[in-house]
Amino acid sequence: MGEFDLIRRYFQRPAGDGVEVGVGDDCAVLAPTPGARWLVSSDMLVEGRHFLSTVDPARLGHKALAVNLSDLAACGATPRGFTLALALPRVDEAWLAGFSRGLLALADAHGCPLVGGDTTQGPLNLCITVFGEAPAGQALLRGGARAGDEVWVSGTLGDARLALEVFRGTAALAGDGFEAVRAAMERPAPRVALGQALRGIATSAIDVSDGLLGDLGHILAASRVGARIDADALPRSAVLAAQPLALQRQCGLAGGDDYELVFTAPPGARLPDVGVALTRIGTLEAEPGLRVVDARGAALEHGLRSFDHFRA
Ligand code: ADP
Ligand code: MG
Repeated sequence: MGEFDLIRRYFQRPAGDGVEVGVGDDCAVLAPTPGARWLVSSDMLVEGRHFLSTVDPARLGHKALAVNLSDLAACGATPRGFTLALALPRVDEAWLAGFSRGLLALADAHGCPLVGGDTTQGPLNLCITVFGEAPAGQALLRGGARAGDEVWVSGTLGDARLALEVFRGTAALAGDGFEAVRAAMERPAPRVALGQALRGIATSAIDVSDGLLGDLGHILAASRVGARIDADALPRSAVLAAQPLALQRQCGLAGGDDYELVFTAPPGARLPDVGVALTRIGTLEAEPGLRVVDARGAALEHGLRSFDHFRA
């Protein structure tokens, strides 16, 4: 199978809403909504770095798009389309069928069509660029938080990291518990509806990709505020809550790959109900820095750091 047959078979879909030209020409042609702003983000997934070669291809397709939709969610954007740049070592039709099934199912679920891309031979590597829209001036950014705002997080934190620790052999889990945290790692649910519903309510937002402490730190730096976070208030799954406390804290505070939203809102803000649990985990303070305390208010010496590709 050649390059163009491969594209036609696995990646070409009929042009949809707002897509005047999709896959098949030199450029896609998209029609913007009047008054809207484009929000654009790219995320790359590299074999051995972001996923294991043994991962189910449908789950990999899902995750490749999910991590990108999560960036749109963090900005309160409505997804409009995406491109896929793909390097493949060889044409493996079973792999391609699974990958495109997982990818396009999530795309359809979010009304976010695949509008173009690039395909080349090489070490397995995926790069997606998503395009979204938000009304002018309404994107949720990192820099709008103010001292006194409350810090909220969606869903639960730490399951993806717990799954990674099981794969690494540093934690043990079996049966349903393992399947649950593995699904959190391999099939994250981007909080797209929540992000859009937070427009005009949240003062800042970010998605948790590298770990809560580091990602919240980006909000603090951009907004020039500090925070006090209650480590015992972090929402965690029953599976994580059954682990030793030190591991719970490591996974929850510094785990990463959660793709939940962390956002700030003034006290008393009316938060949207989109069927995702929201938990208040702390408060912003004028004093710079991130203070982690336990339920009794005692400072926690955690020594934890979020993920950084270029640090050990
Ligand atoms: P060009 O040489 O003009 O860059 P290509 O031959 O790379 O075009 O791609 C042909 C068409 O297929 C283009 O519309 C491109 O956007 C699309 N395309 C290529 N690879 C992919 C892919 N992995 N997913 C979706 N569309 C793709
Ligand atoms: Mg090309």
